Amino acid sequence: MTAYRIGVVGCAGRMGRMLIATIAATPGCVVAGGSERPGSAAIGRDVGTVAGIEPLNLPVFDDAGDLFAAADAVLDFTAPAVSVAHAALAARHKKVHVIGTTGLESDQIAALERAGRDTRIVFAPNMSLGVNLLFAVVEQVARSLDPDWDIEIVEMHHHHKVDAPSGTALALGRAAAKGRGVKLDDVARRSRDGIVGARVRGEIGFATLRGGDVVGDHTVIFAAEGERVEITHKAGSRAIFARGAIRAALWARGKKPGLYGMKDVLGL
Ligand code: NAD
Repeated sequence: MTAYRIGVVGCAGRMGRMLIATIAATPGCVVAGGSERPGSAAIGRDVGTVAGIEPLNLPVFDDAGDLFAAADAVLDFTAPAVSVAHAALAARHKKVHVIGTTGLESDQIAALERAGRDTRIVFAPNMSLGVNLLFAVVEQVARSLDPDWDIEIVEMHHHHKVDAPSGTALALGRAAAKGRGVKLDDVARRSRDGIVGARVRGEIGFATLRGGDVVGDHTVIFAAEGERVEITHKAGSRAIFARGAIRAALWARGKKPGLYGMKDVLGL
């Protein structure tokens, strides 16, 4: 069987480098290439060298179109507007597109849905197995507890992260809201500062911490009078996200066009 050719846009980023190294180490998969934003110091350098592994004799492209043409699947952990533009390329080339970028607005997600009419797109704010299990558990716990149980979500990430709360924290909020039969937008309290008044019954609160090299910690707290349930996931390495993204790309290979999530990939 011919090897599955996987490319990485944003290949010089923190996730990009981990993705290249993980594809190169995955049996049955080869690195199809990498791209970076125009002007990046990585353009023209060897994709393997940029990722800190052996040279792969592939230069980093500044045109993602070339990469979509050359690959069977493209992994994309970049920035919201960039991933939306790449989804249109994926649709044009009919290639699998796995998007891990967080911070997309609803109109940007609608654009992914449109691209998903022509090709297979997997989009997930968190590609780890553990966090996707957490989504299911949180929904179930929220369904079992009445709104006298306050729900608060705390997340911590490294000091380079640009969006807040994290895409995973918001997805945990959506899971809790779904369990309660409400919409997150109607009950979310994304931050608190100053004299904000007493907590409103039924709201789902978020707290964001940033510091050091933390890959990603998330805790969902269910707090009632006299007792508290806390459910935590801690990511120790970006490798879990990279493995999840490659699993998603392999899963999407034989599927019909559509916008899918990790729930579909993992069969949860
Ligand atoms: P990063 O800033 O280290 O990497 C992003 C890379 O994208 C940079 O190298 C940047 O130059 C590149 N880029 C920007 N515009 C581009 C363009 N037009 N073409 C090609 N490349 C371009 O960030 P990071 O820590 O790797 O995170 C990237 C994204 O992935 C963030 O949104 C983050 O929240 C998300 N993330 C998701 C998961 C998940 O499991 N879904 C896990 C970790 C991070």
